[in-house]
Amino acid sequence: MSDTELVLRSTRVITPEGTRPATVTVAGGRITAVLPYDAAVPSDARLEDFGDDVLLPGLVDTHVHVNDPGRTEWEGFWTATRAAAAGGITTLVDMPLNSLPPTTTVDNLRTKRDVAVDKAHIDVGFWGGALPDNVKDLRPLHEAGVFGFKAFLSPSGVDEFPHLDHDRLARSLAEIASFGGLLIVHAEDPHHLDAAPQHGGPKYADFLASRPRDAEDTAISQLIGQAKRLNARVHVLHLSSSDALPLIAEAKAEGVRVTVETCPHYLTLTAEEVPDGASEFKCCPPIREAANQDLLWQALADGTIDCVVTDHSPSTADLKTDDFATAWGGISGLQLSLAAVWTEARRRGHGLEDVVRWMSSRTAELVGLDARKGAIEAGRDADFAVLAPDETFTVDPAALQHRNRVTAYAGKTLYGVVKSTWLRGERIVADGEFTGPKGRLLTRDH
Ligand SMILES: [Zn+2]
Repeated sequence: MSDTELVLRSTRVITPEGTRPATVTVAGGRITAVLPYDAAVPSDARLEDFGDDVLLPGLVDTHVHVNDPGRTEWEGFWTATRAAAAGGITTLVDMPLNSLPPTTTVDNLRTKRDVAVDKAHIDVGFWGGALPDNVKDLRPLHEAGVFGFKAFLSPSGVDEFPHLDHDRLARSLAEIASFGGLLIVHAEDPHHLDAAPQHGGPKYADFLASRPRDAEDTAISQLIGQAKRLNARVHVLHLSSSDALPLIAEAKAEGVRVTVETCPHYLTLTAEEVPDGASEFKCCPPIREAANQDLLWQALADGTIDCVVTDHSPSTADLKTDDFATAWGGISGLQLSLAAVWTEARRRGHGLEDVVRWMSSRTAELVGLDARKGAIEAGRDADFAVLAPDETFTVDPAALQHRNRVTAYAGKTLYGVVKSTWLRGERIVADGEFTGPKGRLLTRDH
């Protein structure tokens, strides 16, 4: 008898040391060893041989708006976590806004956890929110296990989640730094947005002009300044403006504690291809030009951008009107993020190891889950995606598990079919068939 319960084998296993043929043993929901391909399998263990399909660590998506409870007609824990599982994601961290209540007090966090607990098909953690009037709630939320705090520097789009002005940002950030927490920031400067031309209507060029790069650049510059002054840890959410890259690179070189994410839509879609009136492409900051996108890829390659997350932020279809000024801003990409990023990464000469680094290892590190998630190595949770990287599929919204099947990727042909997804050694989805919810609610450091 051995302790090994499950043995996973593939000619292509993505490990921290690279991709190689290997045999992975699992016991008690954890990886116990990564062995040579032809290692003997204990007779009492179950063997799953994936042939040439790639075994990669389950993705960790630290930027998802689940909207549950309160706006469950937009999304919910049941649908979001199934969509994530279908896309190879095994951990998500839920944003504090768009649900009602927002995650801005310990009581509200408890409400959210109660709603999520029986619906989670993958592991779920929570961000808290930093509002102008909840500085006193930040430490209790930190102690209750949120992974950090989100703040907006410009209006968020929902009234119950107001933004922080310069002074309030300083106050919240000082409080968060006092207990060693992380502030994650939607960085667009409200004054630059106010000064930009606001035409409204269906033209994408007008919408793009209304959210200029300098709004991002200015906000990021101010955030970096405050992080430096307070020696605080900050994270720039959904970077779109490539003009901000030099100042981020400079801050990192100086030792400022700043990390940066970007999103599949900024890396795979371009302003030039957005049809007028097509607000399924609307998000803030916006999808920019192809030349901007090239620089984002370069920054991922050189490490100026740390990671890639979905910023899955759906709404009901009726809010996606053809007026870019008033349509809901948010792109649904949870189920498609791995394939979308892999398709473009592959075209640009990157390997799947790079995609895993950006979408699993680095995001796990961002939220301090890197002892348990984000790599195939002994001791970590047995969370995997099995991917056929050279198979293609055409995106059919009807095949999505999102509650609202609206997507900017409709009709695109993507590389990378997720064959199955595994959570702590259990297959949670294979070929579109799900098990019941097996996800756990995660807290920081636990
Ligand atoms: Zn977001």
